[in-house]
Formats: sequence, C-alpha cells, structure tokens
Amino acid sequence: MTQDALPSLERAVRGSVVRAAETLDRLGRDASHLVGKPVAAVAPADADDVVALVQWARRERVPLVARGGGTSLEGGSVPSPRSVVVDLSGWNSILEVREDELWARVGPGTVNLDLQRALRPRGLFFPPNPGSWTRSTIGGNVGTNASGPRSFAYGPTRAWVRAVEVVLGNGRRLRLGSLALKRSIGPDLLSLVVGSEGTLGIVTEVTVRLAPTAPTCEGLVVPLPDSARLGEVASRLARAHGTGLSAVEYVDRTCAAALAERRRSLGPTGQALLLLEIEADGPMQAAARRELVRELLSTVGVNGAAVAVNPEELWTLRGEAGTSLNEQVGPSVREDVAVPLGRLDELVDALRAIGREAGARFFLYGHLGEGSLHPNFAVDPPAWPPNASEGRWSGPPSLSGGRSARSTASAFSRSRTSPRRSGRMQSIGCSP
Ligand SMILES: Cc1cc2nc3c(=O)[nH]c(=O)nc-3n(C[C@H](O)[C@H](O)[C@H](O)COP(=O)(O)OP(=O)(O)OC[C@H]3O[C@@H](n4cnc5c(N)ncnc54)[C@H](O)[C@@H]3O)c2cc1C
Repeated sequence: MTQDALPSLERAVRGSVVRAAETLDRLGRDASHLVGKPVAAVAPADADDVVALVQWARRERVPLVARGGGTSLEGGSVPSPRSVVVDLSGWNSILEVREDELWARVGPGTVNLDLQRALRPRGLFFPPNPGSWTRSTIGGNVGTNASGPRSFAYGPTRAWVRAVEVVLGNGRRLRLGSLALKRSIGPDLLSLVVGSEGTLGIVTEVTVRLAPTAPTCEGLVVPLPDSARLGEVASRLARAHGTGLSAVEYVDRTCAAALAERRRSLGPTGQALLLLEIEADGPMQAAARRELVRELLSTVGVNGAAVAVNPEELWTLRGEAGTSLNEQVGPSVREDVAVPLGRLDELVDALRAIGREAGARFFLYGHLGEGSLHPNFAVDPPAWPPNASEGRWSGPPSLSGGRSARSTASAFSRSRTSPRRSGRMQSIGCSP
C-alpha cells in the first residue's frame, strides 16, 4: 500500500485512521525483537466498520494485521510491509456476564486481568492467565490460544471460548460456536479460529467460558535443590490425585533472584523455585493438600519449606520473569519449547549443551507442569544460532515436542513464515 490509498481508507471507515509516526512506531512492535512499519492504523468504530475496512483492504490489496495488547513474543502482531494495523485495544468492554450460565461476552480488546478482576466479586474467573495478563487482551489470547500457569489444570484458551464473532477476509461476518455447553456435531470451526493469529479473520467479540472460583486458592513458593530433576518433579505432581494443584511453574536460581530484586520478595532466595497454586474447598482441605504436595515432593528429593504467596501477585510477578532476566543478564535469545513431561530432563540437558556449544550463559523458567519451558541464552539475537555462519550448527534435538510452544528467535524454528502478499488479511506470526 502506498500513501495514495490513505484518503480512500479515511472515506471507507468511520473509526479513526492513525498516521502519526510516533503511534505507528509503537504499533510496529510487539514483545519480540521484530519491528515492522505499518502505513497506517485503524481503530474501527464497530463490527460493521471492520467489514468496511476489510472490503477496502480487498479492493486495495492491502494486508491487515489485527492487534490487541501487542504482547506477542513471536512477531504475531508486528505488521508486514505496507500493511494497516487493526487496533482493537479500545474494544475493551465487558458486554454481559451470565453467572448462571458461566459465560461472559467481551470486546476483543478487554485486558485479561481486567476481566479477572471484574469477575472476582461474582465468584468466577477465566482460567487462562498468561504471564502477560496485565496487558494482553482476550482477542489476543484467542489469536494465540494463550496458556498460562493455570493451564496445568484448566487447559489453554481454546478450552475456554464458547463463541466468537469474526469478520473473514471476504468481509463476511460470522458467529462461530454457541452458548450451549455441548457442541458435538460438525467440524469445529471455532477451534480453528482460536490460535490462528489473525490469519483467518478479525475477532470482534468473544464469549468466554467461566469457572467458579475455589473457596480457597493459595500461591506457594517452594525452593528447589540443584539436584532436582525437573521432569521427575513435574511428572510426580501431574499424576497424583487429590492435590488440587492448578499451577506448577518453575524459575531457575538467577531468575528467582532477578524477580526478588525487581520488586517483591518471593520468599526463599538464592535457589531455584517451584511456584505452585493449590485450590481447595476451605482452609482445612488446603492444609491437607499442602501436606500431600509436600509428601509428593519429598519423594523426588524436594524438601524445602513452602512459603504462601497471594496468587494474583505471584502470577503477575512470574509474568515479569523475562523482563527481570533481561535487566539482570542483558540481551538474550529466548525460546518457547514444549515436550512430553517424560522428556523434560532430556530437554534440559540438551539445552545446557546448546548453551555450552554457544559459549552462552543459560537460564530457564517456564510452565513446568505443562512441559513448556523458556530457555534463555545470554547472547545478542543476531549472533544466534551458534556457529551457523560456519555451517556447524547441528540444530535442536527432536524430543517429540509439539506446536504448542512458540519461538522468538530461531534455535528451535529455523524457518520463519514469510509474510504473504495476497492482499488479504494476514499476520506474520510463526510457530515452530
Ligand atoms: C511478559 C509476557 C508473558 C507472556 N506469557 C505468556 C504465557 O504465559 N502464555 C502464553 O501463551 N503467552 C504468553 N505471552 C505471549 C502473549 O502475551 C500472549 O500470546 C497473548 O495472548 C497475546 O495477547 P495480545 O493481546 O497482546 O495479542 P497481540 O500481541 O496484539 O496479538 C497476538 C496475535 O493475535 C492476533 N490478534 C490479536 N487480536 C486479534 C483479534 N481481535 N482478532 C484476530 N486476531 C487477533 C494478532 O494478529 C497476533 O497474531 C507472554 C508475553 C509476554 C510479553
């Protein structure tokens, strides 16, 4: 798209068209190291306006890139060249909450934590709680099928979307899913849209499924000895019945120290930490469950005393792990890999070996209970992967991982999806 098409864009839509360089610079970035330069950004007025925008984009053959909070770690919301950003962050209304039916209808720009806080007095919550929940939006959570600490017990966003309204690339407005609990007939088009990173359409409304809040919900921080095998710990907790565990997260020693230094104390310092959440019917059951978890952990060599922490604070702090680490160790290549729990220890050993090969310090944190970890190698991203220029990079090991994790750089996903130039809606997100 060239600047010549801008007057026709301004005529086509009722929402505001932004051309200010400063704003476009901000909208050209997300939380990855990638940067794009959109020609303009549009904040559509309503869903009909999105239809008008899409029809204009088809006529002019201009790519559209949907954007919520811009916290994507893999360039999903970074605009491709000559594109227009569809800024949905202003669509942040909670339109309807049905406590009796356990759903809420929200604008796609609703920030995850704002929704959680609005639901809390009603004794409800939306289980997906990505580390970015203070900034990421429900539309973005749908776009990326976001998971979070609570996905250990509750699964990712895909499990918590009842319906979406979406505008397709041909300008057609569709409602997918239903308010009914049971949806068993026909292809699951709703699930196709969840996780499609804006490539199938622009989501203009989301009906999320809600869960009742447990009467007691406790965050726990447990120190981990250096000898702990992460795979054994994760697997022991995952296969035990009756723990009430809703989250099993891990931060290594450096990361724990970086978090403690940043703002609040995490309790134990100087050690790697397990960050847990236990749900229970009340204080007595919580105490019994804490004891069960303590016993389980002792069978895998983890005997440190647990410290109780407020869950909202704990997950907000855990979400700052990457930023804290950057502050502590400087630029790093951060990956997002997932393997079966039984192969976690192999993964950790392989990652350490990659760090040694690269001559890079190696740090680790992640969603341990889901087998999903964020390895960090303290090198400048342009210098990665190690020895690539001499053709000596042997690549990552194959450990039966899936597409559930994403990638910010190239150690685990060497090929990046090229931006297509079809003139239809597109996103340049990549997944390994
Ligand atoms: C500190 C930090 C912690 C994080 N922790 C986690 C985590 O625990 N788990 C996790 O899964 N991710 C995590 N992320 C990644 C990211 O925050 C999530 O993927 C989040 O869901 C993105 O939401 P967003 O509103 O910022 O989306 P954006 O970055 O704006 O967009 C993400 C993708 O969704 C598309 N999209 C956005 N809105 C719409 C819409 N309305 N219609 C169609 N497509 C749309 C975009 O085009 C893009 O492809 C983290 C990121 C950060 C910075």
